[in-house]
Amino acid sequence: MINQKICRTCVLPESSLFHLDTTGNCKICNSPTLFKHIIKKSDGEKLSQLIDQTKRNGKNQKYDCMVAWSGGRDSTFMLHELVRKHNLRCVAVFGKTPFTPNEIIDSVHSISEKLNIELIEVQTPSTHQEIAGYCLKEYLRTQAPILINLACASCKFINKEIFKQAQRLGVKTVIYGGNRFEYFPSGPASIDINSENRYSFLNMMRDNISRIIKGGGILMTSPALLKYCLTFFKASVLYVNQYTVYLRVRYPNIFRFDYYHFEDWDESKINAVLNNLGWQLPSGCNTTWRADCVFEAVKNTAFKRQLGFTYAQAMYSNLIRGNKITREEALNRLDKEGISEPRLQKALELCGLAQNAFTDKNG
Ligand SMILES: [Zn+2]
Repeated sequence: MINQKICRTCVLPESSLFHLDTTGNCKICNSPTLFKHIIKKSDGEKLSQLIDQTKRNGKNQKYDCMVAWSGGRDSTFMLHELVRKHNLRCVAVFGKTPFTPNEIIDSVHSISEKLNIELIEVQTPSTHQEIAGYCLKEYLRTQAPILINLACASCKFINKEIFKQAQRLGVKTVIYGGNRFEYFPSGPASIDINSENRYSFLNMMRDNISRIIKGGGILMTSPALLKYCLTFFKASVLYVNQYTVYLRVRYPNIFRFDYYHFEDWDESKINAVLNNLGWQLPSGCNTTWRADCVFEAVKNTAFKRQLGFTYAQAMYSNLIRGNKITREEALNRLDKEGISEPRLQKALELCGLAQNAFTDKNG
């Protein structure tokens, strides 16, 4: 990858999407509005207000909050902080999928015991593997990038499950650990809404409508997908994230927020805590990013084919812009952290595809 011509500020290569200009910079580095969310400072004061509100909401209830836990790096650290640092009485919901590595499941079990919290385990719908395989085959046939996102539709059902469990237990606050450095403008299936408040009710309404239109488009080119159309609709409109119009209207009394929208994200601090907790890096992983899902290797391979660079390149570029790492550090890490071949093989096997499904056409 280092023989590619790359941006002189970040590590994105020259590509059809991001031409490097005469000064050697890419389009993103040249437009700070595209990465406002990256350079935003953490806001400890706002976070402590949110924690206080969570405690008030939890008064006379068994739990203060429900934590969405994938078992991966960021949500595990967040859970630790909510329990140990903020002293919240947490119940965690762990969403297991056919693509969750065993090491992650083991870590979830041992860490929930160590932190002495109640653990609820939920699973994605039983058609998850079948749908992922089907979408992946359609992707290889049509090359439509949105099919890779639809392959992950089943995971969105975990959001619905989390709110259902919160309602059942009388929990009034749900906390998520999405990492803002993973958000990438102009990704293949991302829907850009240029606004200060990406998740406002109105913006989520617009987002819903544009997803329905995109979805209609893909069904025209892959009519065979029609049989999963209800799953796709629910996943991409009703449950796509915790802020959807549906989840707000259905659970109006449950407060929700993203921890890392306010707390600083400090990788070395996170790694130290994870070590201490005995969190295991799944076999075949060469990085902690998205270690919780082997399908990630498929997404990353498709992303790279489509755009000419990996998620890691996009995320490290965000970290550089956010002053989290230097460009040299990012280049060093990229040298060591390619797409993991064993994880890709495992994901293809789970999808019922041949080991060379990608390499065939990839060259
Ligand atoms: Zn750049």
